[in-house]
Formats: sequence, structure tokens, C-alpha cells
Amino acid sequence: MIYADNAATTRMSGAAIETMLHHFRETFGNPSSLYTTGQKAKEVLEEAREQIAGVIGVTPGEIIFTSGGSEADNQAILTAAKLGEKNGKKHIISTAFEHHAVLHTLNRLKEDGFEITLLDVHTNGLVVPSEVEAAIREDTCLVTIMYANNEIGTIQPIREIGEICRKHGVLFHTDAVQAVGHIPVNAQTDHFDMLSASAHKFHGPKGVGFLYVRKGIRVTNLIEGGAQEKGRRAGTENVAGIAAMACALTDAVSAMDESARKLIAKRDRLIAGLQQIPHSELNGDAAKRLPGNVNFCFEGIEGESLLLLLDDKGIQASSGSACTSGSLDPSHVLLAIGRVHDVAHGSLRLSIGEDISDEDVDEIIRSVKEVVEYLRSFSPIWRDLVAGKKPFIL
Ligand SMILES: *Cc1c(COP(=O)(O)O)cnc(C)c1O
Repeated sequence: MIYADNAATTRMSGAAIETMLHHFRETFGNPSSLYTTGQKAKEVLEEAREQIAGVIGVTPGEIIFTSGGSEADNQAILTAAKLGEKNGKKHIISTAFEHHAVLHTLNRLKEDGFEITLLDVHTNGLVVPSEVEAAIREDTCLVTIMYANNEIGTIQPIREIGEICRKHGVLFHTDAVQAVGHIPVNAQTDHFDMLSASAHKFHGPKGVGFLYVRKGIRVTNLIEGGAQEKGRRAGTENVAGIAAMACALTDAVSAMDESARKLIAKRDRLIAGLQQIPHSELNGDAAKRLPGNVNFCFEGIEGESLLLLLDDKGIQASSGSACTSGSLDPSHVLLAIGRVHDVAHGSLRLSIGEDISDEDVDEIIRSVKEVVEYLRSFSPIWRDLVAGKKPFIL
């Protein structure tokens, strides 16, 4: 079996599993309890907070533990909206290819009278910083732009965007769920005010993540209850999960340079191999992309059938986003970079991890070639294209 869907989720690292089991057994206390067992749990929690803060260059007090990336995105956006509303600022800038945790939260704010500007991400899947600047208005309360896209892997010019936001005094949030643990992310150099991350995207457990909020920003809490996380997120903390997240992140970051170098070589081998398939095209900039991300469109086929037939061959990948929930709409990300519906339907995302070998890469190339040819052999769209009844787009 070749697992090539690391953008959907990653396998937990052995060390993260061991850490989690250890704390399930040994650290069962409630961190809010004052006796020894509780205080031991509190120590584990605060140690994890320090480690995580250190990795992204912030102070521990600026880290809030959440149930994952989606919750962190919701909390960041609603925090900025609440602050904006107080000052009569109800305009937010984002992009058309954000994760749904961002887009759906923005849609909800629209119902509350917020105006949302979604920036173009162009055919290369990159936001242009000067366009961010041009979109900023007197009443802009937030810019929220993802660090790296989860489908096409493009890495945004976050530092430049951060500088622009700081210059104009506008809050800047980045959904860094695909970036943290994979590429260098640092709050000091990148100038973001808020950042979301999720453990299961960097070999930690599911259901746990964190939100960084710069000191001085008044956080809106989504969950009312106890005074955990300094009143910013109620509920007894997921101590074992949080400790495992810190372990996974520390390990991912210490191995980052080495594993990125290896992954990029495999990624580019995979891209070169798939480019041999006629009427196919890579989605997103070839260089400014995550080390493990490959995303292609193949004309004349259905991505869903492609991915099911690849599964039969032991290769696990994704078509469009992981959460299409039976919908027949093509990926909003591919539409955002200007792919027409027919072409966007024939997409394949391969997000490879450190465990993949050169032989695996070659097997993927071989299998995708076979399956694309097979699907085209009975595709009515392909027949029309070949007969010249419709022009090829790719
Ligand atoms: C996975 C993902 C999320 C959601 O994170 P969860 O922890 O699964 O809620 C948000 N944004 C991006 C870019 C993601 O890839």
C-alpha cells in the first residue's frame, strides 16, 4: 500500500503514539486540580505549550489549545470580527481558495453584515501582495490568507502580506495548517497576528491543534464554561493529545531540512513522470509549493473514478478536497485558479510523506498512466476531444 494523502491526514509518528500512551496511563489528572496529580498534568500541558511556542517563535501565553485547525480558524476570524465590529470596521479580505473552515466562517459573517473581499489567486495559485494592499480599506478589520494551500500546495508570500498588514494596522491571520511542521514558519519574520495549526497534519493525533494570538489582542472564546486556557477556550484540556502534538511538532521541525530536501526530489520526479501523460497539467506553481504536494488535471476523465481505480492498485490519493461529502461540484480551489469545470473534475492530488521511496514514486507514475489511459478508452468526453468535436484545453 502506498499512502499519498498526507494533506488529508498523516500517520502518527511512533514517538507521538508513545507520548500519548504514556500520558493516558500516567497523567490522568485534571490540570485545573490543585493537588499533585492535577499539577503534574498542568506541568505537561505547560511544557507542551512552551515547546510549541518556541517552534514558531512566540511566547507560551500566546498559544491557545483547540480541537484542531477548523476550530482555530473559526476562533481567529470571529476574534477579529468582534474587534472590528466594536470599531465600526466590518470588511474582511481573504482569498477564493481558502479551506472551508475559513470560507464558511466568512459566509456566516456576511449574514451579520460583514463585507468580504475574496482575492484572485491567479493561474499559478499565488496571491499578489500588491493586490492585498490595494484591497485594504478604512474599514478593513482582518486579512486572512492561508500559508500553504491544502489542495495545490502553493506557498503564499506570507511575509510580504504580513508587512503590508502591519503597515496599515490591519490584523493578519494565516491558516498555517499545511505549513507548520513542513516548512519554516516564524511569527517574528512573517508578521502574522494569528495563526492556526493542526496536529494530525504533522504526524500528531487528530482532534487537537492550536491557535496563536499575538499578545494584546482580546480573544473571543467560542466555548463558554471553565477558565481553562485563561478563559479563552473552556473545557478540560486534552493533555495526552497536546503532549503528543508537541512531540510530533518538535520531531517534524528538527528533521525538516533533511526531509524537505528528500521530499522535493521525489515530488519533482513524480511531477516529471506525470507530465509525460498527454493532455495533463500540473496545478499550482511548480516551485513555490509544499515539498510533498503534487496536483494534476487530466483532461477527459473523472477524478473520482481515477482515485477509486488507484485504490484498487494499492495507491491512496485524493481528488479535489477530502470533504466533498458526495457533492458533484468540482474543487473550489481548482475553479479559483481558473480551471473550467470539465478539467477541474479530472484532478488528482498526491501528497507524499517521508516514508515514500523512489520505487513507490515510479509505481505511482506507472499506475496513474495506466488508469488514465483506461478511463479515457471509454470516456465520451475524450472521444469528442479526439474526434475534434471539442477543443483540447490542456
Ligand atoms: C486540515 C485543514 C484544516 C482543518 O483542520 P482540522 O484539524 O482537520 O479541523 C484547516 N485548514 C487547512 C488548510 C487544512 O488542511
